[in-house]
Amino acid sequence: MTTVNNYASYRPEDHGLPGILELGEKIAAYFPEFAPAASVAYNPKVVSAESSKTFRTDGDKYGASSAERVGGVPVSEIRADFPILSERVGGKPLIWLDNAATTQRPRQVIERIVRYYERENSNTHRGAHTLAARSTDAYEVARRKVADFIGAASPDNIIFTRGTTEGLNLVAQSYVKRRLRPGDEIILTILEHHANIVPWQMIAEETGAALKIAPVDETGQIILPEYAALFTPRVKFASITQVSNALGVITPTAEMVAIAHSFGTPVCVDGAQSVSHMPVSVAGLDADFFVFSGHKVFGPNGIGAVYGKSEPLEEARPYQGGGNMIEDVTFERTTYKKAPAKFEAGTGNIAAAVGLGAAIDYVTAIGMENIESYERSLLEYAVRELSAVPGLRLIGSAAQRAGVISFVMEGRETEEIGDFLNAAGIAVRAGHHCAQPILRRFGLESTARPSLAFYNVKGEIDALAERLESPPR
Ligand code: PLP
Repeated sequence: MTTVNNYASYRPEDHGLPGILELGEKIAAYFPEFAPAASVAYNPKVVSAESSKTFRTDGDKYGASSAERVGGVPVSEIRADFPILSERVGGKPLIWLDNAATTQRPRQVIERIVRYYERENSNTHRGAHTLAARSTDAYEVARRKVADFIGAASPDNIIFTRGTTEGLNLVAQSYVKRRLRPGDEIILTILEHHANIVPWQMIAEETGAALKIAPVDETGQIILPEYAALFTPRVKFASITQVSNALGVITPTAEMVAIAHSFGTPVCVDGAQSVSHMPVSVAGLDADFFVFSGHKVFGPNGIGAVYGKSEPLEEARPYQGGGNMIEDVTFERTTYKKAPAKFEAGTGNIAAAVGLGAAIDYVTAIGMENIESYERSLLEYAVRELSAVPGLRLIGSAAQRAGVISFVMEGRETEEIGDFLNAAGIAVRAGHHCAQPILRRFGLESTARPSLAFYNVKGEIDALAERLESPPR
C-alpha cells in the first residue's frame, strides 16, 4: 500500500491517475463531468441565463447600469454570480459595503465546495485509495493556484493556514521568535490590524525584545524617511500591511521592504486587505513572508495562506506538531518533512482550500488589473459623494488608497450610524475595526467604514449618501 506523505513528491500517476496536468485540467481528466467547474473561467455567456433565473430577484434593486463594467464584464453579470447580493434585510435590498470585514462568495465557489464533499472528500496524503488521491489532487491544485495568484515561485512556498491571523502567528512563532534576544527589536507601523500587532507583542514579551512603530502623516500615509530611521542593528524583523483595513491606505510596501533589506532585516507583508483589490506579486515586493485570508478574497472561511521564501521556511521550526508534518517519529526524536508540510500539522481545511482555488480562478478570469481599475473609479466616486454629505468627515486622505472609506459624523455616534444604515439594508462596519492605534492617531475610538468590492455599483453609493443625508430617526 502506497502512502502519500510528502507534498513535493505527490504524483497522481503513482495512484493510477493521469500524470501531472495543469491546474483544473487535472480534475477534468479523471472527473470529466466536473470539467467546466474545476477550472472556472469567467464566461459571461455561461454565467448569465441560468444564474439570473436562479438568483436574481427584485432584491437586486441597485443593479449596475449597463455602462458599469469590470474589464469587459458587465457588473450586472458579476452580481448575478453572488446569490447573497439578492438578499433582502429587514425588507430592504441588501447593500453589502462591509467587504473589508469579509467578502461575499460567488456560486462558483459555493458549488465547488459542494462538489468536493459530494465526490472527492477524503483526508489527504494518506492511504492509496481513489478518494484520497482525488482529495490530495484537489488540495495541491489549490496550493498551486495560490502560488500563481500571488506570484510565488513554487507551491512549496505556500502553507495553508486558517487565515491571516494564524499565518502571522505562524511566522512569529516558527521563524522570528527563535531569532530574538533581549534588547532586539521588531518594526511595525501604526496602521496595523491587531492581528499584525499582538503576535509580535507576545513574542517580544517572551524574549525581552521590543516593538518600534513607524508613524504616518496627516493623510494616514507612512513617512518613508522616518520608517528608514527606525532601523538599527538591533532590528531583527519587520511586518507591514500592504493596505490598511481602517483607512484603506496603500503603503509603499516595495520601498519599505527594500529599506528593511538594506539593513539586512527580513519582512512579512500582511496582504489581508490587498489581495482582493489589486494584483499582488510577492516576487515583485521581494517579501520574505506574505499572508492573506481566503474569506477576504471571495473564498471560504477558515482558509488562508502564508507565503515564505525557501530559506526562511527551511530555517523555521514548526510551532505545531502532529500528524502529516513528520518524516519519522520515535519517542526519542521526531524528524520533520520539508515545507510546506512541516507547518501543516493535522488535517487541514481541505474543502476550503479547494474553494479558495475556485475563488482565485474567478477573480483571475475577470482580471485583477480590471478589478483594481474599476474599484479605483468607484472609490473616487464614493469619496466625492460622501464628502458632500453635510457634517461628514472623512478620515485618511492618502493619495494611494484601496477599497475602504472611514468617516465620522458630527453629532452622531458611529454605532448609531451603523444601525441607521442597517435599517435601510446597508451593511457597513462601525467600530474600531481591530485597528485601535491608527484610529487613536486621529483622536478617535471608532469610525463608520463602508468598504468596496468589484460587485459594488454607483447606485449603492448613491443610496448610502442619500441615507446619510437624511436625519436620524
Ligand atoms: N490584517 C488585516 C489588514 C485585516 O484587515 C484583517 C482582518 O480584517 C486581518 C489581518 C485578520 O484577518 P483574519 O481575521 O481573516 O485572520
